[in-house]
Amino acid sequence: MSDFLNTLTPDAGPDGASDVPRADGASAWRRSDAKGVVTLWLDCPDTGTNVISETVLRELDGLLDTLGGAKALVIRSAKRSGFAAGADIDGFADIGRDAALDLIRQGHAVLDRLAGLEVPTIAVIHGNTLGGGLELALACDRRIGIDGVKAGFPEVQLGLHPGLGGTFRLTRLIDPIEAMQAMLTGKSIHDRKVKKLGLVDALVPERHVDAAIEAAIRGDLPARETGLKAGAMRLSPARSLAATRMRQEAEKSAPRRHYPAPYALIDLWHDHGGDADAMQKAEIESFATLLESATAQALIRVFFLRRTLKSGASGASGIGHVHVIGAGAMGAEIAAWSALRGKRVTLEDVKLAPLGKAVKRAAKIYEKRHLSGIDARDALDRMMPDPDGLGRARADLVIEAAPERAELKEKIYSGLVNTMKPDAILATNTSSLRLETLFDAAPDPARFAGLHFFNPVSRMPLVELVSHEGVAAETLDRLAAFVGELDRLPVRVRDYPGFLVNRVLAPYMLEAMLMLDEGMDKERLDRAALAFGMPMGPVTLADQVGLDICLEVARSLGRGLDRPVADVPDWLARKVEDGETGRKAGKGLYDYDKEAPPETASGDDEDARIIDRLILPMCNAAVECLREGVVDDADRLDAAMIFGTGWAPFRGGPMHYARVRGDVPDTLRRLEEQHGPRFAPDPGWDRFA
Ligand code: NAD
Repeated sequence: MSDFLNTLTPDAGPDGASDVPRADGASAWRRSDAKGVVTLWLDCPDTGTNVISETVLRELDGLLDTLGGAKALVIRSAKRSGFAAGADIDGFADIGRDAALDLIRQGHAVLDRLAGLEVPTIAVIHGNTLGGGLELALACDRRIGIDGVKAGFPEVQLGLHPGLGGTFRLTRLIDPIEAMQAMLTGKSIHDRKVKKLGLVDALVPERHVDAAIEAAIRGDLPARETGLKAGAMRLSPARSLAATRMRQEAEKSAPRRHYPAPYALIDLWHDHGGDADAMQKAEIESFATLLESATAQALIRVFFLRRTLKSGASGASGIGHVHVIGAGAMGAEIAAWSALRGKRVTLEDVKLAPLGKAVKRAAKIYEKRHLSGIDARDALDRMMPDPDGLGRARADLVIEAAPERAELKEKIYSGLVNTMKPDAILATNTSSLRLETLFDAAPDPARFAGLHFFNPVSRMPLVELVSHEGVAAETLDRLAAFVGELDRLPVRVRDYPGFLVNRVLAPYMLEAMLMLDEGMDKERLDRAALAFGMPMGPVTLADQVGLDICLEVARSLGRGLDRPVADVPDWLARKVEDGETGRKAGKGLYDYDKEAPPETASGDDEDARIIDRLILPMCNAAVECLREGVVDDADRLDAAMIFGTGWAPFRGGPMHYARVRGDVPDTLRRLEEQHGPRFAPDPGWDRFA
């Protein structure tokens, strides 16, 4: 989801674009006329990112009336961040089917008009060109991409498919199988591939854009080839075969009853591929139907939740140099990610080997993120291995990511006293130690807080920002801004056993241990959770986290909470003593030499008894956290669980799920009678759900 949603940063436009005057009567468009060519610059007001709203399209419609005798129309963006990040999701929130249909039909009419103009129309696209933005570009005759362009249709991630002509225009323009793949996965396509697929007719550096536009107007851009495959796919039997394969593929990652959109899209293409008019009509109907689905509504809510978290990261942190202590699994990723986002980073470890590994890890992350050679080089230059800890005295922020032992962390903090700059902040990445036990050892408790990143940092957007009674508000504000600068999502939480995310998630794994102890098959447990929509079954997750860590979490929750938690079975401690600590040891609850954990649910059936025992204790812990003031509100809690753990997004998070279900306290009471007091409903249910 990240590319689509991570673009809300204000930015200056391409050179000179912001000096171009607004088009008459338009708020979202600028207009320049030169040598008979009209250029319309999309520049939505008061934001760094264009979105295709009803206003944008209505104004475009008006501007198409004013082209006079222009010899060509160019459409481009005045924003540095890209062409457009998608359709305006706000316009689709809480909208009824009829209103949605009206809105979509109006949008189609404008793009059809653009597509039908007699003068050549050329879209110049750069940066993020997603969803509705790409659909606007597809309605032009030709497309010129600027190096670094990222194009894609992320609608499936909102439980939708393209709804502004994307389905029929893309499958007509490029290899339909590639087009369907792009729309089914929602993944962005990066510049060279954009060109290779034929999404753009030319890919040029910014300085060659004018020449490319002139070539397009003269008709000098290479003719488009319609491949053999595209021809074959117009025949119904070939499409049927391909559609069947696509459905099978989709079942693996997105079961139909939770995620209807991919199947609706496949049906659309299967039934109407090759007949643009019919496909357009069907696209409009299908989009409006999906928009009403519970899945789309929950996923659109998740989109807004992300924005809520992001808005908690305003202002500037004043942090330019980050010093990371501990170059292990977490420290290496935190350092690499900070350097990627433009921070100067020094990385310290007591051993040399982790420092070498950290640099390799960084290079791999940059490659995966499609950084250009120069950008990757620059980021690596910003990340300096620092075995002597010279960065401690220069950094604006020191992040401690040393092993999870209080006395070790305290020793590290004592070494920072009188070393750090006077206004520098110290943050710990601890996941289970209470800050109340650590802050006395920090050089200045007012400038000490928790910055709990999730593993792997490069893929998990959430960061818990953990406060304690001695921390200054300014420290938290600067850290929140820093998290925003890293393009991660901060959630402010209070010092509490497991903080927020691990407190809520722990019962999922701990209850699974008890069910294993009762003789339940581990694969059955994992598959039931996958069928519910969790990204990983609890048994696999426990192995992934490490059974040693699970054991420690269970013990520390048992010590720290006022309520009973699941007693871990004795065999778990024995397994840990024997070194069978999970995935990292090659053996834990699964034996990785002999078996692989299931990755997909078998069939659609959720096993209600298993689900209630695994999921409802998480809802109960969520209510406890709200009652205890660990997090501000239920929306932030749901967002934290989704962005920190991948909690079934289409269910909207544990609190949303509990609200929709309605019977959670009663079911917990029943479970309490059957299995004991750990299921007793939290006293906060009446107030918080
Ligand atoms: P790790 O064992 O992979 O790495 C710790 C690194 O610290 C090692 O390279 C070690 O050599 C180094 N180190 C030890 N003593 C040091 C010292 N005195 N000075 C400098 N470096 C020292 O551990 P990790 O998994 O990266 O965890 C680090 C912290 O992050 C812990 O507090 C952990 O709770 C937290 N955390 C871990 C995860 C996770 O999934 N691994 C997730 C979130 C938070």
